[in-house]
Amino acid sequence: MELIDCKSLTLEELKAQLVKMGVPAYRAAQIRSWLDKGMVDFDEMGNLPAALRGQLKQIFWIPGIKIKKKLVSARDNTVKYLYTLWDGENVESVLMQYRHGWSQCISTQVGCKMGCSFCATGMDGIVRNLLPSEMIAQIEAAQADHNVRVSSVVLMGMGEPLDNFDNVIRFLMMLGEPGGVQIGMRHISLSTCGLVDKIYRLMDYKLQITLSVSLHAPNDEIRSGIMPVNKRWPVSELMKACREYANATGRRISFEYAMINGVNDSDEAAAELAAILKGMLCHVNLIPLNAVPEKAQQRSSEERIRRFKSILEKSGVNVTVRRTLGADINASCGQLRRQNR
Ligand code: SAH
Ligand code: SF4
Repeated sequence: MELIDCKSLTLEELKAQLVKMGVPAYRAAQIRSWLDKGMVDFDEMGNLPAALRGQLKQIFWIPGIKIKKKLVSARDNTVKYLYTLWDGENVESVLMQYRHGWSQCISTQVGCKMGCSFCATGMDGIVRNLLPSEMIAQIEAAQADHNVRVSSVVLMGMGEPLDNFDNVIRFLMMLGEPGGVQIGMRHISLSTCGLVDKIYRLMDYKLQITLSVSLHAPNDEIRSGIMPVNKRWPVSELMKACREYANATGRRISFEYAMINGVNDSDEAAAELAAILKGMLCHVNLIPLNAVPEKAQQRSSEERIRRFKSILEKSGVNVTVRRTLGADINASCGQLRRQNR
């Protein structure tokens, strides 16, 4: 029989599972509190009788996560972690300090199958999905190690969250559970490369999260050249889904736009972007490309980014240029894992 990942169950599900095994329901809260402390071994759960610990090991397992590497930026306190998972795979996560507190960027997959041309994560394809417990553990490990409380989470690390839909939804639901990391939906952002069918599925949950869409281009010609996913779901279908999502949830969509020199940063591109966003409840984040050493693409100049921004502003688009945090520690995800193989 396949063992059940104990840490990916809600308290109620854990209770139900224990009751099925003839174990009193109150044990669930005891086990949960050990799991919330990052415990991965039933034998160390001191308040459980030995017989019960043996019984638990027959049914459950707890995926562990260890810090393999920690880099702290000398410039802005940004911390980058490389974690090793139970099967030896590595994922990255970044802690960022803002005025309002600490925000953590977490990974949802080992690798990614979407193959965007500017991204280090996608270079070798996907290895596997992360379990909900492995997403939670990234936060627990960083909080314990760096002695901070994480108050917001962005799903912008390695992987495409909507390609790991069920585990990501479960993770989002579990984040708010009492006793755990306790981060509410309004403090969570999920970034997608634009899996349109999954955006509609997500819409039905009516979550209060922020949806970030990695747009990076205003038309199919440019977008298909840098993001293979655009051949499956072109810009028009993506924008239609975004409009419906914003209307259905009442939440402002955030569009990510990496500024790549000579690729997507012309005045015409800015005007076209303003046109397709017209009238939509949204915000645009211009991100100076974090150039990946193995790739030829370079970041747009500051002057180009300023001009692009001002064209959007003149058309009434809500736009900011994202600060690049942790520039000295490769804070864009995917690079550290590649360097540590
Ligand atoms: N797969 C999801 C989330 C992870 S990538 C997505 O694509 O949205 C998180 C963000 O980083 C995305 O907006 C992605 O386009 C962007 N990104 C990837 N590589 C980058 C790079 N080299 N420089 C700047 N942004 C990058
Ligand atoms: Fe995957 Fe996002 Fe990287 Fe594209 S940008 S390859 S979707 S992680």
